[in-house]
Amino acid sequence: MSLNQEYQKELKLAKFADEQLLKTKFITKLRKPSMKHDHDSMIQNIFKLDGQFIEKNLKCRLCQDYFQKFTITFCGHSFCYLCLFEHLLKSHKCPCCFTKIKGLQFVYCKTIDGFIQSQVIVSSQKHIDNYHSRKNVLKEWKAKKKIKNFNIGDSLDVLDSEHIWCVGKILKIKQKKRNQILIHYQGQNKIYDEYISINSPRLSTLGLFTNRKDILLYQPSLNEELLQIYLRYLEQLQNNETSFIDYLISQRQNQNQNLIFAFQSNGRNTISNLFSLIIYNNQTINDSF
Ligand SMILES: [Zn+2]
Ligand SMILES: [Zn+2]
Repeated sequence: MSLNQEYQKELKLAKFADEQLLKTKFITKLRKPSMKHDHDSMIQNIFKLDGQFIEKNLKCRLCQDYFQKFTITFCGHSFCYLCLFEHLLKSHKCPCCFTKIKGLQFVYCKTIDGFIQSQVIVSSQKHIDNYHSRKNVLKEWKAKKKIKNFNIGDSLDVLDSEHIWCVGKILKIKQKKRNQILIHYQGQNKIYDEYISINSPRLSTLGLFTNRKDILLYQPSLNEELLQIYLRYLEQLQNNETSFIDYLISQRQNQNQNLIFAFQSNGRNTISNLFSLIIYNNQTINDSF
């Protein structure tokens, strides 16, 4: 029954009632309870996405959590800045599509990051707390990485064009603007020396990356002769039975390749049977050993 019909019915019943009073009663009923509430919820829900979209698309594939400092690779995949940065220390491939990513081929998007943050903030307190604690982790990481003073002769960590952290030395500081430094890569030919902006994310305090044992770093390259010496040394260790080596990982890099070799031992056979070669690479090894 419509409100109008209800009103008519009630009016008939209340023969002697004050018509104006009844009208007022129903007009009050017609009024919406809270216009302010509607307005507030409309503002809040301008970008309300359906739940499934939030769950699937606003989360980083690496940490399974909401994007923190939303970062997009040139192949179009998105991660938290720190998750991607950390991943690229160990592998130079996109975790989603395996496209090769070297150098800083990814950008931070402020707009989307702000949007995600706004979504997290209107969600539960648990998400908000988690988001802020992760934000602090990122802040601390940045503080550890940031170089405060640049002086000629200082050593630092520097990310090279192959996306490998190296130890570098400051040779020059550009006097005019003082925002560029000339870096020499320790132990490498001076043809690799380069100018880098002091604000570049490719710079870090000494040892933050180059002291790590769990990331890709340059190792002295093994030529065939050296490899034989090394294998004989490993054989000796095995014969001594004092130590047991399960595998040896060696890495070799040049301009177009990033080869990681794992030599795996199978018990106590002779050296020729002992090592099987496993190669993780998308290219051939013709010119490697
Ligand atoms: Zn992440
Ligand atoms: Zn990708």
